[in-house]
Amino acid sequence: MSQQTSITLNDGRAIPQVGLGVWQVPDETATQSVAEALKAGYTHVDTAAIYENERGVGRGLAQSGVTRGDVFVTTKLWNENQGFDRTLRAFDESLNRLGLDHVDLYLIHWPSPAREAYVDTWKAFIRLREEGRARSIGVSNFTAEHLDRLIGETGVTPVLNQIELHPRFQQRDLRAAHEARGIATQSWSPLGQGQLLSDPAIARIAQKHGKTPAQVIIRWHVDNGLVVIPKSVTPSRIRENIAVFDFRLDEEDLSAIAALDSAEGRIGPDPMTAKF
Ligand code: NAD
Repeated sequence: MSQQTSITLNDGRAIPQVGLGVWQVPDETATQSVAEALKAGYTHVDTAAIYENERGVGRGLAQSGVTRGDVFVTTKLWNENQGFDRTLRAFDESLNRLGLDHVDLYLIHWPSPAREAYVDTWKAFIRLREEGRARSIGVSNFTAEHLDRLIGETGVTPVLNQIELHPRFQQRDLRAAHEARGIATQSWSPLGQGQLLSDPAIARIAQKHGKTPAQVIIRWHVDNGLVVIPKSVTPSRIRENIAVFDFRLDEEDLSAIAALDSAEGRIGPDPMTAKF
């Protein structure tokens, strides 16, 4: 069992620091992965409408018999559904697929700035929060400028921004911008989509602590106050990725990992130029 830690969001609610990511997990497999994760002590699952596995995630939650209040469920609005009315409709569809009456966190998946719709979308998110169907509301892949526009035009600050973040792309400037605005940072592709697991500096730290490279990287996110959602469909790895609460990284480890940051470390799309 894990001793899961959590972060308090700016709306007073708590989010477990480690969750299960299910991007690229087929619907059927998502049911098994979610069930496996809940058994292993996870209390947090991150899906999205575009992952096309909300049904599978919902089945995994239902079949596990876990009490709804004991698990934190996030889903995301896909870009083509931005805009006030479309957002409300898309949210209903996500809830239906999940088989839930509320989500713990609803995120705008990408700012998609060319659509000029993220502020209206955010206004619909505020309504969903007022209705209690999205308990907390946040964003993903937003820059500091996008965040300031949302806050300036609505007075409502997102609880968190889910962004690409891993030891090779540490996003120090955006993290500082979040901190200044009371926004939590959530790391997507926290293991660099697996690419960081063979890094020699990570391997050395793993050996020193008798841990695996994945555990060292996940612990690094936790020690940095980040919320982290590693993805795996392999039961032993799902268990491994949450067994990170029985060791700590020391100063030497943290400075070795700090040195891996790179301006060229981004793996996924740049939110300013993404064509979707
Ligand atoms: P990740 O960094 O979590 O890496 C996942 C890969 O690492 C797996 O496919 C597996 O091959 C490998 N892996 C995982 N655990 C391992 C272990 N213990 N040992 C060895 N290999 C292991 O990559 P990800 O899936 O891109 O990101 C995680 C989650 O972040 C996604 O599932 C999704 O929920 C979220 N995400 C969000 C966005 C966004 O735009 N908001 C974008 C990408 C991902």
